[in-house]
Amino acid sequence: MEIFNINEIDNKLIEIGLGVLEKNFDDGIYNHTVGCALLCKNGNIYKGVNCDGIHGSCAEYITMGMAVSAGEREFDTIVAVHDKHINSVISPCGNCRQMLLEYCPDIKVIVNDQNGQLIKVQARDLLPFAWESVVCE
Ligand SMILES: [Zn+2]
Repeated sequence: MEIFNINEIDNKLIEIGLGVLEKNFDDGIYNHTVGCALLCKNGNIYKGVNCDGIHGSCAEYITMGMAVSAGEREFDTIVAVHDKHINSVISPCGNCRQMLLEYCPDIKVIVNDQNGQLIKVQARDLLPFAWESVVCE
């Protein structure tokens, strides 16, 4: 597994994610409790919060959906945040790991390591032995 160091842009992404969460935080009716920021390879940044409901979607899904809907296809880095988590960063759930792997296995994901230090790893390293849409012949 390749581990990437956190840089200035990564810290900016965390701040952007916290900003969109602060603006939309709702721990009651809509349960907007996670923010996300996504950096595209062209430098564009998208941000979003989770949308709760009987089949709610994580902030990563919402943010990726916004980027894809805007025509983006090349992704660099993504982070999910909540200000009460270590370093304000949350690891993606299994469903989001699968989505990230399918859209961009090389995307870097900001997570905390076992020592509580921020690192970046590629989506493919967050989901070993993942499901693939390959038809065997
Ligand atoms: Zn998720």
